[in-house]
Amino acid sequence: MCEWCYKHGAGKKWYLNSKNYLEETAEAVGAHEYIYELWKHFEKVYLQKIFGISTRGPGYKFSIPVVGRAIKWYINSWFTKEKPLKGRNPRRAEGHPGQVVPLEDAQQVLDLADPILKVNCACRHMTRGIEDPCCLAFGALAEMVPKLPRYIPEHGAERLHIDEAKDFVEKMNRGGRVNTVWFGPVPYIAALCSCEYPECAATRLRIDYGLNALYKGEYVAKVDFSKCTGCGTCASRCQFGALTFTDSMNRPFIDAWKCYGCGLCATTCPEGAIEMVDRTAVPAVKDEW
Ligand code: SF4
Ligand code: SF4
Ligand code: SF4
Repeated sequence: MCEWCYKHGAGKKWYLNSKNYLEETAEAVGAHEYIYELWKHFEKVYLQKIFGISTRGPGYKFSIPVVGRAIKWYINSWFTKEKPLKGRNPRRAEGHPGQVVPLEDAQQVLDLADPILKVNCACRHMTRGIEDPCCLAFGALAEMVPKLPRYIPEHGAERLHIDEAKDFVEKMNRGGRVNTVWFGPVPYIAALCSCEYPECAATRLRIDYGLNALYKGEYVAKVDFSKCTGCGTCASRCQFGALTFTDSMNRPFIDAWKCYGCGLCATTCPEGAIEMVDRTAVPAVKDEW
């Protein structure tokens, strides 16, 4: 289990702990006020302005010896902040990291969340200027969205029944979107997203710059070669560069270090040859989040 599970999971995975969805948890961390400030200024959060979702990127800053590491450490400390609202800065998205979840866990999350509102994706709005209603907002975030019309889909805010929401994330998963859950802020859970690199701001920060806006999931994919027929269906499913299909072997190879545990390869395999194993059961990557 990851550090969030130990702190906020009550013996489970943190996002499966019902306490993290309660109104009283939202109130304890000032989620209503925090979320409103963050979303109101989403196009201008410091990470966008200084460290670049923009094409010019901050790579050169991070490559400066010692200084680069210090900057990275400092920014990473923003995401893990658990101070009360007064000690957190929503314009830096402090206390607002996400984590990759496989489809099955995403659907369990929906059993705990209420209400569930389908809203426009803030990242796609910010990075591409497009409206794509692919985020499911819960509780405090669902309450905030009607105040900021740019996050309301063209046909209006849509409240989903649990079963509709489960079908929706399955459809997103089939289409190649990575399911992610979001602290809003720690430990309150505000959303279940359907992300994609490079549109997703957090995925870009993680993959391109090694910033922990997005954490790896609780699982790692493993191929059972006795079941794999070499059909190649999984070859194009990985957004993290962890799965490569080797023509010489006619089999996929999964690099556990690069695997984020999204399960997109597993859900597409017609033979059920890819299994999602607990990250902590794989010694080489058990501390890789
Ligand atoms: S985290 Fe993913 S789905 Fe959510 S707002 Fe960002 S890109 Fe959109
Ligand atoms: S190897 Fe599979 S589970 Fe791992 S990141 Fe790639 S698609 Fe997701
Ligand atoms: S989709 Fe499944 S059966 Fe096909 S190559 Fe990938 S692991 Fe093998």
